[in-house]
Amino acid sequence: MNQIYFDYNATTPLHPEVEKVLQKTMSNFGNPASAHGFGQDAERIVTESKETIAQFLNTDPENLIFTSGGTESNNTVLFQLLAEKVTHKEPRKLLCSSIEHSSILEYSSFLKKAGIEVEYIPVDSQGFVDLDFLRKHITSNSLVSIIAANNEIGTVQDIEVILEIVTEAKAELHIDATQAVGKFEIDLQKLPVHYLTAAAHKIYGPRGIGLLYRKPFTRFSPMIIGGGQQEEQRAGTENHLLLAGFAEAIRQRKNEMKDEEIRLRSLKAKLIEGITTAFPFARINGATDERSLPGTVNITFNGVENEMLLLYLDMAGIAISTGSACSSRSFKASHVLHSIGLSELDAFQTVRISMGRNSTEKHVEKLIAELKTIISRLKK
Ligand code: PLP
Repeated sequence: MNQIYFDYNATTPLHPEVEKVLQKTMSNFGNPASAHGFGQDAERIVTESKETIAQFLNTDPENLIFTSGGTESNNTVLFQLLAEKVTHKEPRKLLCSSIEHSSILEYSSFLKKAGIEVEYIPVDSQGFVDLDFLRKHITSNSLVSIIAANNEIGTVQDIEVILEIVTEAKAELHIDATQAVGKFEIDLQKLPVHYLTAAAHKIYGPRGIGLLYRKPFTRFSPMIIGGGQQEEQRAGTENHLLLAGFAEAIRQRKNEMKDEEIRLRSLKAKLIEGITTAFPFARINGATDERSLPGTVNITFNGVENEMLLLYLDMAGIAISTGSACSSRSFKASHVLHSIGLSELDAFQTVRISMGRNSTEKHVEKLIAELKTIISRLKK
């Protein structure tokens, strides 16, 4: 059976060109920190890869720290508040939205336990952060952390306006752009945030590698300490294989991103129209206009248990999700859906469909057809 994948926000298949680069680089096993030829070969790959990725974000490679992924980058940013507390610097407070990824929210709970002040910015029914709340609660000692594009409902925040508010308050802004980088343009010269998180596996690169951008002269303490790798900002032998894969994924994004965005927006419109026509009781959650991820659709099917729907679709060879990949097995109602006003019952009747470079009109048609059969069966 030909399987159809609708879970690109959880992770993406490797781009064929990334696969080729990984195959080619695999035999090169030197440690980039070694002075001999093996090490120099690996070091060359590290340098070139960083250059490619930095160029894409319009910054310098020195401003990028490579990590194991979005979670580590997000944790590293929030770790700054903990490090400052330990070194008795002036305390700072964290202001983050209520729809952050768990790698921010769980860490924020940990910070609270350590006596650090944390405030959550509410969002409206589409998932946009309450800018008046931010204006009212921000202080010069705030670190503001905002998810640029939400992984569950696809809402894309107006980072430019948020940055204006943060800059005016002389505070600092981190954006979790794990679902944004490589899906639409982010230029760090035009959008000079203080920190930015991204990960390769959301854009057809390998998993296990991400980055943290840090604006020059922004305060920073490394979270992972050991050897002096990456200018002592993140210890551990650099993984030139994953870096080469990340850089190739970025190279491909440069070619494909714009056309893909147009194609996905039209697929998304077709999917939404198909679903709302076939199921008048269905509700689309989050933003769906240009302020949303091009391939993400979040839907509540009243009276349909999402786990059953996922199961039946899986049996029909179609993979969707009931929420974020990390929480979809936890059987806890999604905090994102709760924040935009859904009840617990609604949350358990909600699914996420996320499309990407291999999604086609035929896939969308097949999904709608299967949904018709399965939902009418489940409704009985
Ligand atoms: N932030 C967002 C918005 C995400 O969607 C994800 C992954 O789903 C992460 C952070 C965590 O990234 P990783 O899985 O690379 O640790």
